[in-house]
Amino acid sequence: MDRELLKKFIETPSPVGREDELIKLVVESTKSLAEDYIYDNQGSVSVVYNKKAPFKVMLMAHADEISLVVNGYNPNGTLKVSKNGGVREKLYNGVKVKIITEKGYVNGVMGVVDKDKIEADDLFVDIGCFSSEEAKDIVPLGSYVIHDTSFMELQNNLFSGRALDDRLGVFVIQEAAKMALRLKAKAGIYATSSVGEENTGRGAYSSSSIIKPDLAIIVDVTYSSDYIGNPAKGDINIGKGGVICLGSLVNRKLNKLLEETAKELGLPIQYEVWPGRTSTDGDTINRTNDGTPTVLFSIPIRYMHSPVEVASFNDVDTMIVILAHFLAKLSSDIDLHPYRF
Ligand SMILES: [Zn+2]
Repeated sequence: MDRELLKKFIETPSPVGREDELIKLVVESTKSLAEDYIYDNQGSVSVVYNKKAPFKVMLMAHADEISLVVNGYNPNGTLKVSKNGGVREKLYNGVKVKIITEKGYVNGVMGVVDKDKIEADDLFVDIGCFSSEEAKDIVPLGSYVIHDTSFMELQNNLFSGRALDDRLGVFVIQEAAKMALRLKAKAGIYATSSVGEENTGRGAYSSSSIIKPDLAIIVDVTYSSDYIGNPAKGDINIGKGGVICLGSLVNRKLNKLLEETAKELGLPIQYEVWPGRTSTDGDTINRTNDGTPTVLFSIPIRYMHSPVEVASFNDVDTMIVILAHFLAKLSSDIDLHPYRF
Protein backbone atom coordinates (compact mmCIF):
# COMPACT_ATOMS: atom_id res chain seq x y z
CA MET A 1 0.00 0.00 0.00
CA ASP A 2 1.19 3.49 -0.84
CA ARG A 3 0.97 5.11 2.62
CA GLU A 4 2.14 8.48 1.32
CA LEU A 5 -0.74 8.56 -1.16
CA LEU A 6 -3.18 7.52 1.57
CA LYS A 7 -1.90 10.37 3.74
CA LYS A 8 -2.35 12.79 0.84
CA PHE A 9 -5.98 11.69 0.35
CA ILE A 10 -6.69 12.30 4.05
CA GLU A 11 -4.95 15.67 4.26
CA THR A 12 -6.64 17.11 1.17
CA PRO A 13 -9.65 19.32 2.03
CA SER A 14 -12.97 18.23 0.49
CA PRO A 15 -15.95 19.74 2.33
CA VAL A 16 -19.37 19.01 0.82
CA GLY A 17 -19.70 21.58 -1.95
CA ARG A 18 -15.93 22.03 -2.44
CA GLU A 19 -14.66 18.53 -3.20
CA ASP A 20 -12.61 19.83 -6.16
CA GLU A 21 -9.13 19.35 -4.65
CA LEU A 22 -9.73 15.71 -3.80
CA ILE A 23 -11.38 14.99 -7.16
CA LYS A 24 -8.27 16.47 -8.79
CA LEU A 25 -6.03 14.22 -6.69
CA VAL A 26 -8.09 11.14 -7.69
CA VAL A 27 -7.56 11.99 -11.36
CA GLU A 28 -3.85 12.78 -10.98
CA SER A 29 -3.10 9.62 -9.00
CA THR A 30 -4.83 7.30 -11.49
CA LYS A 31 -3.62 8.80 -14.79
CA SER A 32 -1.09 6.11 -15.62
CA LEU A 33 -3.70 3.30 -15.76
CA ALA A 34 -7.12 4.88 -16.29
CA GLU A 35 -8.73 4.49 -19.71
CA ASP A 36 -11.22 7.26 -19.22
CA TYR A 37 -12.92 9.56 -16.73
CA ILE A 38 -16.65 10.15 -16.52
CA TYR A 39 -17.77 13.32 -14.76
CA ASP A 40 -21.32 13.96 -13.67
CA ASN A 41 -22.71 17.47 -13.43
CA GLN A 42 -22.59 17.36 -9.64
CA GLY A 43 -18.80 16.96 -9.53
CA SER A 44 -18.33 13.21 -8.98
CA VAL A 45 -15.72 11.47 -11.09
CA SER A 46 -15.60 7.84 -12.19
CA VAL A 47 -12.21 6.37 -13.13
CA VAL A 48 -12.84 3.87 -15.90
CA TYR A 49 -10.96 0.61 -16.52
CA ASN A 50 -11.85 -2.07 -19.12
CA LYS A 51 -13.97 0.51 -20.88
CA LYS A 52 -15.19 -1.81 -23.65
CA ALA A 53 -16.55 -4.50 -21.31
CA PRO A 54 -20.36 -4.72 -21.51
CA PHE A 55 -20.71 -5.82 -17.87
CA LYS A 56 -20.19 -2.79 -15.64
CA VAL A 57 -19.29 -2.75 -11.97
CA MET A 58 -19.37 0.49 -10.03
CA LEU A 59 -17.13 0.88 -7.00
CA MET A 60 -18.21 3.90 -5.02
CA ALA A 61 -16.87 5.91 -2.10
CA HIS A 62 -17.75 9.48 -1.21
CA ALA A 63 -15.14 12.20 -1.57
CA ASP A 64 -16.89 14.82 0.56
CA GLU A 65 -16.28 15.53 4.23
CA ILE A 66 -18.44 17.19 6.87
CA SER A 67 -17.60 20.82 7.62
CA LEU A 68 -18.97 24.15 8.77
CA VAL A 69 -20.00 26.92 6.39
CA VAL A 70 -19.74 30.65 7.08
CA ASN A 71 -23.22 32.16 7.22
CA GLY A 72 -22.62 35.58 8.76
CA TYR A 73 -20.37 37.94 10.71
CA ASN A 74 -20.42 39.15 14.30
CA PRO A 75 -19.71 42.88 14.96
CA ASN A 76 -16.43 41.91 16.71
CA GLY A 77 -15.07 40.32 13.51
CA THR A 78 -15.73 36.66 14.29
CA LEU A 79 -17.53 34.44 11.77
CA LYS A 80 -20.93 32.83 12.27
CA VAL A 81 -21.31 29.27 10.98
CA SER A 82 -23.86 26.59 10.19
CA LYS A 83 -23.47 22.83 9.86
CA ASN A 84 -22.60 21.24 6.51
CA GLY A 85 -23.30 17.54 7.15
CA GLY A 86 -23.51 15.60 10.41
CA VAL A 87 -21.29 17.87 12.50
CA ARG A 88 -20.97 17.24 16.27
CA GLU A 89 -20.92 20.77 17.70
CA LYS A 90 -19.26 19.95 21.02
CA LEU A 91 -16.12 18.73 19.22
CA TYR A 92 -15.33 22.30 18.16
CA ASN A 93 -14.30 23.40 21.62
CA GLY A 94 -10.69 24.59 21.54
CA VAL A 95 -9.74 23.55 18.01
CA LYS A 96 -7.87 25.06 15.08
CA VAL A 97 -9.61 25.36 11.70
CA LYS A 98 -8.81 26.32 8.11
CA ILE A 99 -11.18 28.19 5.86
CA ILE A 100 -11.13 27.60 2.12
CA THR A 101 -11.29 30.80 0.05
CA GLU A 102 -10.51 31.60 -3.57
CA LYS A 103 -7.32 33.33 -2.39
CA GLY A 104 -6.13 30.34 -0.34
CA TYR A 105 -6.56 29.02 3.18
CA VAL A 106 -7.29 31.32 6.08
CA ASN A 107 -6.34 30.21 9.61
CA GLY A 108 -8.83 30.33 12.44
CA VAL A 109 -9.60 29.12 15.93
CA MET A 110 -13.01 28.10 17.21
CA GLY A 111 -14.85 29.83 19.97
CA VAL A 112 -17.73 28.03 21.64
CA VAL A 113 -20.35 29.54 23.98
CA ASP A 114 -19.89 27.83 27.36
CA LYS A 115 -23.18 25.98 28.01
CA ASP A 116 -24.43 22.40 28.38
CA LYS A 117 -26.10 21.79 25.02
CA ILE A 118 -24.00 23.40 22.30
CA GLU A 119 -25.67 24.12 18.94
CA ALA A 120 -24.30 25.55 15.70
CA ASP A 121 -25.41 29.05 16.76
CA ASP A 122 -23.06 28.76 19.74
CA LEU A 123 -20.00 28.33 17.51
CA PHE A 124 -17.92 31.09 15.98
CA VAL A 125 -14.60 31.34 14.18
CA ASP A 126 -11.93 33.84 15.22
CA ILE A 127 -9.60 34.68 12.33
CA GLY A 128 -8.02 37.63 14.13
CA CYS A 129 -10.21 40.42 12.74
CA PHE A 130 -11.62 43.35 14.73
CA SER A 131 -14.73 44.15 12.66
CA SER A 132 -17.28 42.40 10.46
CA GLU A 133 -16.20 44.53 7.47
CA GLU A 134 -12.60 43.37 7.81
CA ALA A 135 -13.66 39.72 8.20
CA LYS A 136 -16.00 39.92 5.18
CA ASP A 137 -13.15 41.06 2.96
CA ILE A 138 -11.02 38.08 3.91
CA VAL A 139 -13.63 35.31 4.19
CA PRO A 140 -16.64 35.60 1.85
CA LEU A 141 -20.07 34.36 2.90
CA GLY A 142 -20.51 30.65 2.09
CA SER A 143 -16.86 29.72 2.66
CA TYR A 144 -16.19 26.27 4.09
CA VAL A 145 -14.46 25.65 7.42
CA ILE A 146 -12.64 22.39 8.17
CA HIS A 147 -10.68 21.10 11.14
CA ASP A 148 -6.96 21.80 10.91
CA THR A 149 -5.58 18.40 11.91
CA SER A 150 -2.93 16.34 10.23
CA PHE A 151 -2.54 12.63 9.54
CA MET A 152 -0.86 10.77 12.39
CA GLU A 153 0.39 7.21 12.85
CA LEU A 154 -0.46 5.48 16.14
CA GLN A 155 0.61 2.21 17.79
CA ASN A 156 -0.33 -1.22 16.38
CA ASN A 157 -0.57 -0.11 12.76
CA LEU A 158 -3.40 2.33 13.52
CA PHE A 159 -3.63 5.90 12.24
CA SER A 160 -5.73 8.97 12.83
CA GLY A 161 -6.95 11.78 10.62
CA ARG A 162 -9.74 14.19 9.80
CA ALA A 163 -12.66 12.75 7.83
CA LEU A 164 -11.40 9.28 7.07
CA ASP A 165 -15.15 9.20 6.32
CA ASP A 166 -14.98 8.59 3.48
CA ARG A 167 -11.75 9.74 1.87
CA LEU A 168 -10.20 6.54 3.15
CA GLY A 169 -12.88 4.73 1.11
CA VAL A 170 -11.90 6.78 -1.95
CA PHE A 171 -8.32 5.56 -1.52
CA VAL A 172 -9.46 1.94 -1.02
CA ILE A 173 -11.60 1.80 -4.18
CA GLN A 174 -8.87 3.30 -6.36
CA GLU A 175 -6.28 0.84 -5.05
CA ALA A 176 -8.70 -2.10 -5.37
CA ALA A 177 -9.49 -1.20 -8.98
CA LYS A 178 -5.77 -1.06 -9.86
CA MET A 179 -5.12 -4.40 -8.18
CA ALA A 180 -8.11 -5.97 -9.96
CA LEU A 181 -6.54 -5.01 -13.29
CA ARG A 182 -3.36 -6.83 -12.26
CA LEU A 183 -5.56 -9.86 -11.48
CA LYS A 184 -6.94 -9.64 -15.04
CA ALA A 185 -10.47 -8.63 -14.06
CA LYS A 186 -12.70 -8.69 -17.13
CA ALA A 187 -15.61 -6.53 -16.01
CA GLY A 188 -15.77 -2.83 -16.76
CA ILE A 189 -14.68 -1.10 -13.56
CA TYR A 190 -16.00 2.36 -12.69
CA ALA A 191 -14.30 3.60 -9.51
CA THR A 192 -16.50 6.53 -8.57
CA SER A 193 -15.63 9.23 -6.07
CA SER A 194 -19.04 10.70 -5.34
CA VAL A 195 -19.78 14.16 -3.99
CA GLY A 196 -22.43 15.44 -1.59
CA GLU A 197 -23.05 12.21 0.34
CA GLU A 198 -22.95 13.89 3.73
CA ASN A 199 -25.90 16.16 3.05
CA THR A 200 -27.87 15.17 -0.05
CA GLY A 201 -26.48 12.01 -1.71
CA ARG A 202 -26.62 13.79 -5.05
CA GLY A 203 -23.35 12.55 -6.61
CA ALA A 204 -24.20 8.88 -6.20
CA TYR A 205 -27.51 9.34 -7.99
CA SER A 206 -26.09 11.21 -10.95
CA SER A 207 -23.06 9.00 -11.60
CA SER A 208 -25.10 5.82 -11.39
CA SER A 209 -27.76 7.26 -13.71
CA ILE A 210 -25.12 8.08 -16.33
CA ILE A 211 -23.08 4.86 -16.15
CA LYS A 212 -25.95 2.44 -15.47
CA PRO A 213 -23.81 -0.19 -13.74
CA ASP A 214 -24.95 -3.80 -13.50
CA LEU A 215 -24.07 -3.72 -9.82
CA ALA A 216 -22.49 -1.42 -7.25
CA ILE A 217 -20.05 -1.96 -4.41
CA ILE A 218 -20.15 0.83 -1.84
CA VAL A 219 -17.13 1.36 0.38
CA ASP A 220 -17.80 3.67 3.31
CA VAL A 221 -16.76 3.75 6.95
CA THR A 222 -18.72 2.31 9.87
CA TYR A 223 -18.71 2.50 13.65
CA SER A 224 -16.42 0.15 15.53
CA SER A 225 -17.59 -1.06 18.93
CA ASP A 226 -14.15 -1.07 20.57
CA TYR A 227 -14.41 2.22 22.44
CA ILE A 228 -16.58 3.49 25.28
CA GLY A 229 -19.88 5.06 24.20
CA ASN A 230 -19.83 3.75 20.63
CA PRO A 231 -23.09 3.53 18.63
CA ALA A 232 -22.00 0.42 16.62
CA LYS A 233 -24.47 -2.08 15.16
CA GLY A 234 -22.48 -5.17 16.04
CA ASP A 235 -19.29 -6.48 17.59
CA ILE A 236 -16.80 -4.64 15.37
CA ASN A 237 -13.14 -4.01 16.08
CA ILE A 238 -10.68 -1.97 14.11
CA GLY A 239 -7.87 -4.17 12.83
CA LYS A 240 -10.15 -7.19 12.47
CA GLY A 241 -11.21 -6.67 8.88
CA GLY A 242 -13.70 -4.96 6.59
CA VAL A 243 -17.37 -5.04 7.60
CA ILE A 244 -20.02 -6.72 5.47
CA CYS A 245 -23.49 -5.21 5.85
CA LEU A 246 -26.39 -7.58 6.44
CA GLY A 247 -29.84 -6.17 5.76
CA SER A 248 -32.65 -5.84 3.25
CA LEU A 249 -30.89 -3.30 1.04
CA VAL A 250 -27.90 -5.43 0.11
CA ASN A 251 -27.97 -8.09 -2.61
CA ARG A 252 -27.86 -11.52 -0.97
CA LYS A 253 -26.02 -13.30 -3.79
CA LEU A 254 -23.35 -10.63 -4.11
CA ASN A 255 -22.91 -10.51 -0.36
CA LYS A 256 -22.32 -14.26 -0.30
CA LEU A 257 -19.75 -14.00 -3.08
CA LEU A 258 -17.93 -11.23 -1.21
CA GLU A 259 -17.91 -13.35 1.94
CA GLU A 260 -16.64 -16.42 0.04
CA THR A 261 -13.88 -14.36 -1.56
CA ALA A 262 -12.59 -13.24 1.85
CA LYS A 263 -12.74 -16.80 3.18
CA GLU A 264 -10.86 -18.23 0.18
CA LEU A 265 -8.14 -15.65 0.73
CA GLY A 266 -8.06 -16.41 4.46
CA LEU A 267 -8.61 -12.70 5.22
CA PRO A 268 -10.75 -11.44 8.10
CA ILE A 269 -14.21 -9.91 7.72
CA GLN A 270 -16.77 -8.70 10.23
CA TYR A 271 -20.50 -8.10 10.07
CA GLU A 272 -22.96 -5.36 10.94
CA VAL A 273 -26.73 -5.34 10.66
CA TRP A 274 -28.65 -2.45 9.13
CA PRO A 275 -32.20 -3.73 8.50
CA GLY A 276 -33.25 -0.73 6.36
CA ARG A 277 -31.37 2.34 5.25
CA THR A 278 -27.61 2.27 5.73
CA SER A 279 -26.90 6.04 5.77
CA THR A 280 -24.48 5.59 2.87
CA ASP A 281 -24.51 6.14 -0.91
CA GLY A 282 -25.95 2.60 -1.04
CA ASP A 283 -29.37 4.00 -0.09
CA THR A 284 -29.28 6.25 -3.16
CA ILE A 285 -27.61 4.04 -5.73
CA ASN A 286 -29.92 1.15 -4.92
CA ARG A 287 -32.84 3.19 -6.28
CA THR A 288 -31.19 4.17 -9.54
CA ASN A 289 -31.77 2.53 -12.93
CA ASP A 290 -33.67 -0.77 -12.56
CA GLY A 291 -32.75 -1.08 -8.87
CA THR A 292 -28.98 -1.41 -8.92
CA PRO A 293 -27.88 -4.53 -6.97
CA THR A 294 -25.71 -3.23 -4.15
CA VAL A 295 -23.28 -4.47 -1.52
CA LEU A 296 -21.81 -2.40 1.27
CA PHE A 297 -18.30 -3.20 2.51
CA SER A 298 -17.24 -0.80 5.26
CA ILE A 299 -14.02 0.27 6.92
CA PRO A 300 -14.35 0.15 10.72
CA ILE A 301 -13.36 3.40 12.41
CA ARG A 302 -13.45 4.93 15.89
CA TYR A 303 -14.83 8.42 16.67
CA MET A 304 -16.93 8.92 13.53
CA HIS A 305 -17.47 12.54 12.47
CA SER A 306 -14.66 13.82 14.68
CA PRO A 307 -11.34 15.45 13.68
CA VAL A 308 -9.48 12.42 15.01
CA GLU A 309 -11.12 9.39 13.42
CA VAL A 310 -8.99 6.26 13.89
CA ALA A 311 -8.58 3.28 11.52
CA SER A 312 -6.15 0.42 10.90
CA PHE A 313 -3.69 -0.01 8.02
CA ASN A 314 -4.37 -3.76 8.32
CA ASP A 315 -8.06 -3.27 7.46
CA VAL A 316 -7.20 -1.03 4.53
CA ASP A 317 -4.77 -3.63 3.22
CA THR A 318 -7.05 -6.64 3.53
CA MET A 319 -10.08 -4.83 2.14
CA ILE A 320 -8.17 -3.79 -0.99
CA VAL A 321 -7.13 -7.41 -1.61
CA ILE A 322 -10.64 -8.80 -0.99
CA LEU A 323 -12.26 -6.19 -3.22
CA ALA A 324 -9.73 -6.76 -6.02
CA HIS A 325 -10.34 -10.52 -6.02
CA PHE A 326 -14.09 -9.96 -5.78
CA LEU A 327 -13.93 -7.67 -8.81
CA ALA A 328 -11.94 -10.29 -10.70
CA LYS A 329 -14.76 -12.81 -10.16
CA LEU A 330 -17.58 -10.61 -11.41
CA SER A 331 -19.11 -11.23 -14.84
CA SER A 332 -22.48 -11.37 -16.53
CA ASP A 333 -22.71 -15.06 -15.51
CA ILE A 334 -23.87 -13.97 -12.07
CA ASP A 335 -27.63 -14.03 -11.55
CA LEU A 336 -28.21 -10.89 -9.53
CA HIS A 337 -31.92 -11.42 -8.91
CA PRO A 338 -32.10 -12.12 -5.17
CA TYR A 339 -35.08 -14.50 -5.38
CA ARG A 340 -34.51 -16.35 -8.67
CA PHE A 341 -33.07 -19.77 -7.90
ZN1 LIG B 1 -19.50 8.27 5.01
